[in-house]
Amino acid sequence: MSECIFCNIINKELPSSVVFENDKVLGFKDIDPSAKVHLLFIHKNHSENVNDMVRTDATQVSDVYQAIEQYTAGNSLAADGFRVVTNIGKHGRQDVFHTHFHVLGGEKLTGNLGN
Ligand code: AMP
Ligand code: ZN
Repeated sequence: MSECIFCNIINKELPSSVVFENDKVLGFKDIDPSAKVHLLFIHKNHSENVNDMVRTDATQVSDVYQAIEQYTAGNSLAADGFRVVTNIGKHGRQDVFHTHFHVLGGEKLTGNLGN
C-alpha cells in the first residue's frame, strides 16, 4: 500500500466507485459528495497539486481535462453544465495530496465558487 490514498485507489488496493478509466486517468465518485453529482478525476501519475503537476509534466493537465470532456460529453453534465475545482494547499483546503479535480453538477450549484 502506498501512503497516498488516491494511488491506492488507482492500484485498486482501496475500493472506489469508478465512472471513467483510461490508461492515464481515473474518474470516481467522491465519498462525501458536496453536490448531487460529485466526481474526482485524477492522473495515474502521482503529483501533489496542480502546480506540482504542471512543473512535472504539464501534459497531464490536458490528459485529465480530456478525460473530463470525454466523460461529461456522454451524459447530461455537459448539456446542463458543471463545475471543475482543484484545491491547492492549506488556504485552498486541500486534504488529499494527490492532484485531483472535483467535477460538481447534477443540479444548479449554490455559491459563487466551490461548494
Ligand atoms: P480536497 O479537500 O480538495 O483535497 O478533496 C479531497 C476529496 O476527497 C474530498 O471531497 C473527500 O470527500 C474525497 N475523498 C477522500 N477519501 C476518499 C475516498 N476514499 N474515496 C473517494 N473520495 C474520497
Ligand atoms: Zn498519489
